[in-house]
Amino acid sequence: MTAVRMTAWQRPPEVVRVPVPEPGPGEVLIEVAGAGVCHSDLHVMEWPAGALPYDLPFTLGHETAGRVRTLGPGTRSAGLREGDAVLVYGPWGCGICPACARGAENYCRRAAELRAAGGGLGADGGMAPYMLVPSPRLLVPLGDLDPRTAAPLTDAALTPYHAVKRSLHRLVPGTAAVVIGVGGLGHLAVQLLKALSPADVVAVDVAEDKLDLAAGAGADHCVPAGEGAAERIRAITGGLGAALVLDCVGADATMATAAACAAVESDVTVVGLAGGTLPVASGTVPFEASVSIPYWGSRGELAEVVALARAGRIRPHVETHPLEEALEVYQRLRDGRIEGRAVLVP
Ligand code: NAD
Ligand code: ZN
Ligand code: ZN
Repeated sequence: MTAVRMTAWQRPPEVVRVPVPEPGPGEVLIEVAGAGVCHSDLHVMEWPAGALPYDLPFTLGHETAGRVRTLGPGTRSAGLREGDAVLVYGPWGCGICPACARGAENYCRRAAELRAAGGGLGADGGMAPYMLVPSPRLLVPLGDLDPRTAAPLTDAALTPYHAVKRSLHRLVPGTAAVVIGVGGLGHLAVQLLKALSPADVVAVDVAEDKLDLAAGAGADHCVPAGEGAAERIRAITGGLGAALVLDCVGADATMATAAACAAVESDVTVVGLAGGTLPVASGTVPFEASVSIPYWGSRGELAEVVALARAGRIRPHVETHPLEEALEVYQRLRDGRIEGRAVLVP
């Protein structure tokens, strides 16, 4: 089969032929319907050897939806049937430490011992017609959702879902939430905020078409990034600033904006991995603002995300491309020319 593989650090991935894997005891073989193209893959490609504890080569694709093709020996009691539409939960932990036991495999206590963070992140992922999943516990049933376009739920929606859910106590009526960067994660963050909270939602992006996408996703206000953005947000919020700022970029410029438009007693939550620095010198971050850098979400939260999607409360904006076009699609993502999320279809 054709697979999009990381074969060397700081090099583009390669589209190569690999054998179709066989599910061993406890494993499940998934027929991939769609694999999301996440900006994190661009970071993985940019970072030097040793930055990540992964062995090469491996197949990319950490945002995968498909159908159960073959249940390996010992997995029949999991309640899955061949043909079922499923999402692959992305962060693969040890499965039994205290964090994994509560479904938060994104915070597995033994992560440092594991040579991969999940399928597509050190282990073979979903950018291929078939993907081996090490345990049925890492699958979330999609019900009647179309697996061809559902892949973004498992990262582009789960990551902001976790980030927003932990701040819902702050998002009371009369408050505002800001989303910086309305790409794959950001356009779903806007929808999630509208679905889960009464807060006014302000979207910020450098690109006008991304602000149009934000408006379509339900943003109450759209603000061009850069000079004056924080002042405009302060004005929109009656001078108070936002109760939650979700930075889906994580660059110097966006974190400076985040600090400047946050309210006192707010959450400044950085999910973007652009590697910027947040200024915390006196007067830059408001008093009693909490800064956090959440990573992905839990298995239980992914089931909640699926429930929201099944109820029609969130809907990923997806453009599909053939798997073979992966390299062009990554370049388009790098150039800011993807609207919503790109999904590769084998
Ligand atoms: P994306 O490329 O789809 O979206 C990025 C958006 O940010 C684009 O709309 C772009 O126009 C906008 N943007 C870029 N520079 C900007 C600036 N200076 N000001 C305002 N907007 C700007 O990316 P994505 O797939 O949504 O991922 C976003 C980030 O989140 C990446 O850094 C990715 O690695 C990271 N990420 C983190 C987690 C986590 O668990 N923490 C999970 C997934 C992705
Ligand atoms: Zn990702
Ligand atoms: Zn664990």
